[in-house]
Amino acid sequence: MNYKIDGHIVDSVELKCLVVSRGLKIDREVYRKCGKDFRIYPNALTCNSFKLPDGTIVMATDLGIHLSTLSSMFSWDNLKLFRYMNDMTTDFRLSLVEGQPSLRYKGEIITPVQLMQASDFYRQKTRSGMPFAGNAVLQGCDWVAFQCLWPCEYACAGKPCQFCFSGGQFEALAHRKKPMPFIPSPADVSEVVLYAVEHDGVNSMQLTGGSTFRAETEEKYITAYLEDMKISGALDSLKNELLLYITPPERHDVIDRYFEMGASRIACSLEVWDDKLAESITPGKRSFTTKQRHLDALTYIAGKYGPGKSFSNFIIGLEPFETLKEGAAWLAERGVIPSASVWMPFGKPVNGSMKPASLDYFRRTKEMLAELYLKYNLEPSGCCGLNVCIERDIWRLATGAPCC
Ligand code: SF4
Repeated sequence: MNYKIDGHIVDSVELKCLVVSRGLKIDREVYRKCGKDFRIYPNALTCNSFKLPDGTIVMATDLGIHLSTLSSMFSWDNLKLFRYMNDMTTDFRLSLVEGQPSLRYKGEIITPVQLMQASDFYRQKTRSGMPFAGNAVLQGCDWVAFQCLWPCEYACAGKPCQFCFSGGQFEALAHRKKPMPFIPSPADVSEVVLYAVEHDGVNSMQLTGGSTFRAETEEKYITAYLEDMKISGALDSLKNELLLYITPPERHDVIDRYFEMGASRIACSLEVWDDKLAESITPGKRSFTTKQRHLDALTYIAGKYGPGKSFSNFIIGLEPFETLKEGAAWLAERGVIPSASVWMPFGKPVNGSMKPASLDYFRRTKEMLAELYLKYNLEPSGCCGLNVCIERDIWRLATGAPCC
């Protein structure tokens, strides 16, 4: 499926990259008229998304709402806010055209889009009183995600990854000696999963927290969550995948235990391949965990559990295409999936820049990853697709596999 944008013909993956990296403005009328029957809410915590006509899921970050959420997260002063506000413009807009939600660019209609079915998910609380909103999100049609279940010790130690909104929040709280955000209990997590499976057609889950200095700390968290999910039935209710995002441990027996407890695949994400850039963009990961430990854990998993069982995420748009390609190829050759999330620079500059990647960069990245997935027979997870990640979309486009 192709679209015309600013004189260029782009496919669904390229259009997704452009929308995710640039954000959009959503007309009030869309919230007002569609918010009852569809999952589109004027709230940054609800992780809005839409579907392109071929089923590709696209994150819909409304820049106006996003900025006010950021200001409350970081308590920025007005001067900073003003500066960032000037940078945060976008030519994309979600509007109603003859009653149909449609994506526009500089006023031109690009394509009609489909919104997800309405959900009561974000109105729920667990029995302990934990609100779902702000602790978990629905992604696309079939994922529930917990982005940062426990604090990132690297961020608290003053070394957050520059692009990471959660890391920035942990760093700011630690710096001001404020308490860390609430940590959902294992029972809370199980309840959220069971609800999402029963009411929202969810079949897969992403489980992650912040990086920890000691593998035992992280293992304690993950084990408690997975054990409760087992007992409560939440684990068995997931009919597709459970992805674990971990800090690569020195000893790999921890990884074996995660697979025994039900993980489908495990990620140790490098985010950036280039060593010099990674030192400044992901300082904690590089100085505390090291690149080598990531690579050892990833190749251990691929060697023992088979190709495609481990993956490492790259943030697309942060480094030159050449180093990204080098890293992706290194991993793919060894049976590790190079996965890809589009960098969303809104209000969180990296090395002083909020300039997203160009269409040409996204196109070359898509072609490069598609080639690697086909050559090494790697099928990324994602089912119908995720909001910001593009690996599944690329694989679907390359193989012609239908959206499930
Ligand atoms: S280590 Fe993970 S949680 Fe911590 S700042 Fe980096 S990406 Fe965020």
